[in-house]
Amino acid sequence: MTQEPHKKPDPSKPLLFGKTFTDHMLMVEWNREKGWGQPRIQPFQNLTVHPACSALHYSLQLFEGMKAFKGRDQCVRLFRPWLNMDRMLRSALRLCLPPSLGVGNPTRALLFVILCPVGAYFPGDALSPVSLLADPSFIRAWVGGVGDYKLGGNYGPTVFVQQEALKKGCEQVLWLYGPDHQLTEVGTMNIFIFWTHEDGALELVTPPLDGVILPGVVRQSLLDLARTWGEFRVAERKITMKEFLQALEDGRVREVFGSGTACQVCPVHRILYQGKHLHIPTMENGPELILRFHKELKAIQYGAKAHEWMLPV
Ligand SMILES: *Cc1c(COP(=O)(O)O)cnc(C)c1O
Repeated sequence: MTQEPHKKPDPSKPLLFGKTFTDHMLMVEWNREKGWGQPRIQPFQNLTVHPACSALHYSLQLFEGMKAFKGRDQCVRLFRPWLNMDRMLRSALRLCLPPSLGVGNPTRALLFVILCPVGAYFPGDALSPVSLLADPSFIRAWVGGVGDYKLGGNYGPTVFVQQEALKKGCEQVLWLYGPDHQLTEVGTMNIFIFWTHEDGALELVTPPLDGVILPGVVRQSLLDLARTWGEFRVAERKITMKEFLQALEDGRVREVFGSGTACQVCPVHRILYQGKHLHIPTMENGPELILRFHKELKAIQYGAKAHEWMLPV
């Protein structure tokens, strides 16, 4: 146990994602002789790494973002951790990291888990909408690449683009792909559109897992929830800017949002594309679907009703 615990953050203020960490962390070391060692929980440690560490030079590293919630009953539950574990194993296999040794033949590795409280549920925050820069000259991921794995190497190069978005008065990046400017992801979130499709059907659509999309746990959960409701069509299909602009013009777009670790479901209200600011009427439309997803997820995650997605720890 640490002898120098930090001051607890002010509970009346929202916690920012990735800013506050717990006093302790989980570490598991790996070496070629003995494989994975004993996991231990120890004081938070700023790790010093060997200067030749291939995680630094060649980005031979991967990460996960798993969610845990403390219910009113004080029980802590992990949210669909099996999906995070599957994704982590996929990432490790792609990099030839342990437990599957390959060409790199590392001699030592380290698995560590840090806890980053993102705070109590603040309904107000959840609903603050974001603006996006959609510039097709920046590409996050491509077919045959590794954009569908949570590898560190995918993220460093996006920081510059994020800065470009800020310079242009936008908060995040809408990643486009291909000559037809397909909408793929929002920052480090998956994207969803709730609209009336040109065939007249009310539809929730998100791009398919075709190699350029990160298979998000929240993405999967929203699809699963909407499919159990069975109230509108749920599709995994390519969406192009042309189709989207037409739908905006026709007044068919109801809600646009991102899904991911930090905010769960995050509304989008403006997109800057080819020099034009497009207003997205997400907030004017409730946002009904976003609020419903929030409510359902919250009920499941905080254990208001038992659910097979939650693993008590
Ligand atoms: C992590 C991540 C997501 C969201 O995944 P969740 O498991 O839902 O948190 C979406 N897109 C990218 C690029 C990501 O890195």
